[in-house]
Amino acid sequence: MVRRGAPSGWGRPRSEDTGVKVPTGTHLLRHYQAIVDSSDDAIVSKTLDGIVTSWNAAAERMFGWLASEMIGQPMTLVFPPDRLGEETDILRRISAGERVDHFETVRLHRSGREVHVSVTISPIRDETGRVIGASKIARDIEDRVQAQRTIWLQAHYDALTQLPNRRRLETDMLQALCDAVQRRRQAALLFIDLDHFKEVNDSLGHAAGDELLVETAQRIRETLRTGDVVARMGGDEFVVLLPGVANAAEAEGVAGRINNRLRAPYQVQGGPAFVSASIGLAVHPDDGASPEELMAHADMAMYEAKRLGRDQARRFDDSIGQTSRRRARLLNDLHRALQQGEMFLVYQPIVALHNGRLSKLEALLRWNHPELGPVGPDEFIALAEQSGRIIALGDWVFQQAAAQLQRWSKPGTALPQVCINVSALQLRDPERPVSRWPAALAARGLPPAALMLEITESVMAARDPGIEATLACLHSAGLEVAIDDFGTGFSSLAYLDQLQVKALKIDRSFTERLAPGNRTLALCDAITAMAHRLGLVVVAEGVETAEQQTLLRGIGCDFAQGYLFSRPAPPGTTPPTLA
Ligand code: C2E
Ligand code: MG
Ligand code: MG
Repeated sequence: MVRRGAPSGWGRPRSEDTGVKVPTGTHLLRHYQAIVDSSDDAIVSKTLDGIVTSWNAAAERMFGWLASEMIGQPMTLVFPPDRLGEETDILRRISAGERVDHFETVRLHRSGREVHVSVTISPIRDETGRVIGASKIARDIEDRVQAQRTIWLQAHYDALTQLPNRRRLETDMLQALCDAVQRRRQAALLFIDLDHFKEVNDSLGHAAGDELLVETAQRIRETLRTGDVVARMGGDEFVVLLPGVANAAEAEGVAGRINNRLRAPYQVQGGPAFVSASIGLAVHPDDGASPEELMAHADMAMYEAKRLGRDQARRFDDSIGQTSRRRARLLNDLHRALQQGEMFLVYQPIVALHNGRLSKLEALLRWNHPELGPVGPDEFIALAEQSGRIIALGDWVFQQAAAQLQRWSKPGTALPQVCINVSALQLRDPERPVSRWPAALAARGLPPAALMLEITESVMAARDPGIEATLACLHSAGLEVAIDDFGTGFSSLAYLDQLQVKALKIDRSFTERLAPGNRTLALCDAITAMAHRLGLVVVAEGVETAEQQTLLRGIGCDFAQGYLFSRPAPPGTTPPTLA
């Protein structure tokens, strides 16, 4: 290897092995000067009074002052006013011979912009060892500070709407509650959940859904005062914190304004979209003492607003708390209800209107809770769906109904068809438990049409390929399907054409309103005519009076079910007949 000759003045090789020569004397000084000049770190020195004595090129770039301007000036020229105290402290420590290592702080660029730096300051001593000044190396840590800030923002803010997220809200809430207590004011929490957001997402696409959420955030913000906080909890859930309200009515007013603002049509991806909001309200301290309690109660009140028909605000109260606790209890107890034998089926007759004969039976699930007494399916089916229990429960219902039919069957006598209610989740389940039913019926010696599956109309409204495939499979195996609660969902009638449906069950809410010559009668008449044209039979639910029966018979409705004929009852040893 050819070694380039060291310039004159470079000292003796430090080691015979490497041949490296170390500079000495004035060369050494120049050598260090070159390092200082080319450094990316600001390297400066100052007297013990804080007067700058040297200022390198990096310092010029970092702080925007030339060496010629800074030398002789106090170092504090680059200190933000609120950091001036740091200089006194630093100089005191340096004078005592201490070093200050990697001290992270903020300095000012000449333009006024803040510069984040990590500084290391060491004493400069004279030949006798006396401290006569300080050398200071400042490293620009802006990139790292920026990266940390980005991480912090990501951890505390929602990327889509730029709103604070759940974590940030928790800190804000604690602060707000402390303030409220001190100022003897109340604080309120609004839990906002959009209604029908899923439909927008499903029908218009996720980009439209995102746009709608951003617009929602904006609208909520616009209804609030400075100091109020709106956070996004995830999905279509937002929380508003009103840190100082005079009373609950004021918070209710804000909730009402938010409802109004969110009800107005949206423009997303160039088209209109409509949503509304269900809002739960909890006021501190009356409705909850801790942030967690307030949040839980606002959430419960939001569910109550949904239950009462959405697009409204509800304030938490004790009855909501009770409902919610009961729901949690039922949800929990549902798991053991089947094993403990607390569930059973009752059967309600469905009669042919032309001759009054019993033709079908609807199997309806009952739960006798050991402590709470009878719990209705309107309450527990939704819970079973939420928890996924409905799959096992629905299968059990099928097994019970099939076993009952088998017990009733006698050679030579026709059995009434048994209708069982089936939840969408049972049809959507990838394992398709229901596809095993035809074989299970056959194993009991029952024909597939011994059963009819009732599927509520809302299931059909959201077209789902999984459900449609399951239905097609059941249909080809010979099971019949009825659309339950017809007229209550937001359906398109297309499914009547495309799915092989055997019957329509007109919802009780129509039957209830039937009167001679009224619009409900005309509507039921039209539904029946349409169903017949498509080859479907019609069952009217909830028939309670002889007049309803006569009117339904008059429009050609095929079957009726209701208290007029019989209430649901436990099975007897023979299939029920009507008196
Ligand atoms: P649904 O399928 O529409 O059942 C008819 C409901 O109306 C039953 O309520 C029945 O008792 C009631 N009903 C029948 N006739 C009359 C009448 O004349 N007047 C009045 N006021 N009501 C009448 P129930 O048993 O409380 O069931 C409610 C709902 O729970 C059912 O509505 C059904 O959607 C669901 N459900 C019941 N059993 C099951 C089940 O095994 N599986 C699933 N997935 N859902 C079930
Ligand atoms: Mg039904
Ligand atoms: Mg129904």
